[in-house]
Order: sequence, then C-alpha cells, then structure tokens
Amino acid sequence: MTAHRPPSVRHPRIDVGQRPFIVIWEMTRACDLACQHCRAEAQPLPNPLELNTREARSLIDEIASFGAPPPLFVMTGGDPMKRPDLTELVAYAASRHLPVAFSPSATPLLTRGVITELKAAGLKALSLSVDGSGPEIHDAFRGIDGVFERTMAAWETARELGIKVQINTTVSRLNLFDLPRIAHLVRARGAMVWSGFMLVPVGRGAALEQLSADECEDVMNFLYDVGNAIPTKTTEGHHFRRVVLERTILERRGIAPEGTLRLGPTYRRLRAALEPWPAQGRERRSPMDINAGRGFVFVSHVGTVHPSGFMPIPAGNVRVQTLTEIYRQSPLFNDLRDPARLTGRCGVCEFAVVCGGSRSRAFASSGDALGDDPLCAYTPGTFSYQADIAPLFNLSGAAASPPVLS
Ligand code: SF4
Repeated sequence: MTAHRPPSVRHPRIDVGQRPFIVIWEMTRACDLACQHCRAEAQPLPNPLELNTREARSLIDEIASFGAPPPLFVMTGGDPMKRPDLTELVAYAASRHLPVAFSPSATPLLTRGVITELKAAGLKALSLSVDGSGPEIHDAFRGIDGVFERTMAAWETARELGIKVQINTTVSRLNLFDLPRIAHLVRARGAMVWSGFMLVPVGRGAALEQLSADECEDVMNFLYDVGNAIPTKTTEGHHFRRVVLERTILERRGIAPEGTLRLGPTYRRLRAALEPWPAQGRERRSPMDINAGRGFVFVSHVGTVHPSGFMPIPAGNVRVQTLTEIYRQSPLFNDLRDPARLTGRCGVCEFAVVCGGSRSRAFASSGDALGDDPLCAYTPGTFSYQADIAPLFNLSGAAASPPVLS
C-alpha cells in the first residue's frame, strides 16, 4: 500500500489576487518590552493617531467583506494587550465569522484571566515568542527579566484552554546554537507549529547581526529535519519552500542531503545537538504558498496598508480607501503578485512560482521590492534533479484548508 503523502507546498484555496489568506493588523505600537529585533520599534505609549475602536470595527467589517472563506485575522503590535478594547474587538471579529489570532507580549498584562476572557470572546489562536530555551538568552533578547517565565505560563494556560499556540523564534547569532534546545522545548510542551523568523533588517532588527546565506541554508535544512516531530515553518524565509522541495526529491530518490545540497558546519552542529530526534516525517507541515501582497496584507497602527509588516512602502490607507480596493487594485500589490516581474536570481529561478523570496528583505537590502533575496544561497538551475521539481508544485488544486495561524 502506498503511504499518503501530503502536498510538498500548500496553495490557498482562493484567488489571491482578489482576497488575502491572512490580514495582520498592528493594533498599536505601544509595548512595555524593548526587544532587540522589534520591527515596530515599539514605544511605551500609544500613538494618538492609531485607529480608534470605531475605525477598528470598520476595518473588521472590511476584512469580513472579502467573503467566505474568511481571511485569518491576526491582531499584533506592539503589544495588543495595551489596547483597552482588545476583548471587544476579538468578540466583534468573531461575530463577523473571522478566525481570530493575536500575538501578545509576555508582560504582566498577559494573565490567565485575560486569556480566559479572550477565549470566551472567540479567540482561536495565539503566537508567543520564544527566542531562547531558557531565561538567559530569551530575557536578554527581550530586554527585561522574567519574560521567559511569563511566556511559559501563557503557553501552558493557552494549551489548557484549548487555544492553538504558534511559537515564533527569531533566528540570529544570539541564539543560533540554542535552536536544538528550543526544538526540544517545543516538542515537550506542544504547539501547533514552530516558526523560525529569518530576520529582516528593519526597525531595531537592523542593528542585529544577520546570518549569512550559507548559514541560513543550514538552518532551513535543520528546520526541515525538526519537522519530523514538530510542524515547522519559517517567517520571511520563503526559500524554505525550495528546501522542502529539494529534500522531498532527495528523500524519494534515497539520497542523503549533506553532499548534494552542500550543507555546512552549522547544519552538522545543529543536527548533532538535536539528537535524539525521530528520523521519519510524521509531523511534517507543508509550507503555504503566500507572499507579501499575494495572500498576505498588513495594516499598520495608523491605517496604512503594506504588503508585509517588514516592507515600509504604503499602498494606501484604510481611512481614505477600502481595504478590498487597496488589496485588489494597488499597483504595488499587483506587481508583487506577478512572478514575471521578479528580477535578479529570483527572476530566473525555477522555484520562483512557489517561493519568490522575501520581498521585504529584497526591499530592505537594495530598495527594489522585486529584486534578489540576499538570504537565499541558491543559484538557479543548479539543483541536480530539475525534472522532479515542477510535478511537486501541486498547482492544479489540492489546496489546503485555512489553518488558524500560518
Ligand atoms: S533564488 Fe529567489 S525564488 Fe529561487 S529559491 Fe532563492 S529566494 Fe526563492
């Protein structure tokens, strides 16, 4: 009997030119933490110009107007807990049949009582940042003692209440070789998915030392191996899809990856530290084929609309235009949705149709949102088994049902 194989890359069951798969709303930039990688360069006090409750309800109506299946609605910050209308807005979004997730900061505001209240209001999922396997690395990253313990407590509460949990880890030199221990932590405590965030040099993250493209390649192959026992994904690491396709092809051919993919010492060190770890991929989660402006839209705290939270180019503002109009008609969004407009290596890459690279990193590094993703080490055309690639794209259908977080 042939074992069931999930698609190597999942495609949203929607026309991404007409509607997003995910809408991220930056509710506020207020936050009591001072994380080293913060995209939003969060501040203790809210901006008086941030969308008010009436405007937020209008935004939720707009998101619901994209129709069924509704986009996943993610409330982020700053710290969403700094908004006094958070519970009201979660309840309103749930009443409009939007699947609601939020990404709080682990401060004293994040109590068991509040999480319980949000669950009752309709919250389906939350994401928590875990940048170290213990307080030494994590709290140093976050800039305040006690954050790690509060994160563990919120994780436990969410699991007890049946709220889905995504764990996010920013991959940087500060925690690179702690990743195997974080993997074991996630496996032991349980999570819907573990996401490795590949730093984009914007906000405070611009000051952090990034990995090289070769090191990133090693990390992505490590994350693929971790996927044997924990569902894994990447954020702003779109070429993880290329790694998944390469590894799938090599597995089917019975070929070990190290030599063919020229994996380096970082991979070997991470892999050795991961043991013992299951060798079979029973938990493997196929990456979702969405990208900045293509299934994905970000609304800032003051209502500007961006293809991603890491791309500061505004395409409009929900205070003067509808979100549907901006998403469907903005020249920027339409350019980003067209793989034929990509330039550099991404423009000639055989994987571009399901990868396309991080448009945010391309913009941050060169000012060209359609250019090369410098964190990808791949030279187009060099993978040894070219004929095996396209059949894995799965473009004809077999789309995934919407997850609660992606
Ligand atoms: S060259 Fe661009 S499209 Fe190709 S795998 Fe790398 S990031 Fe993706």
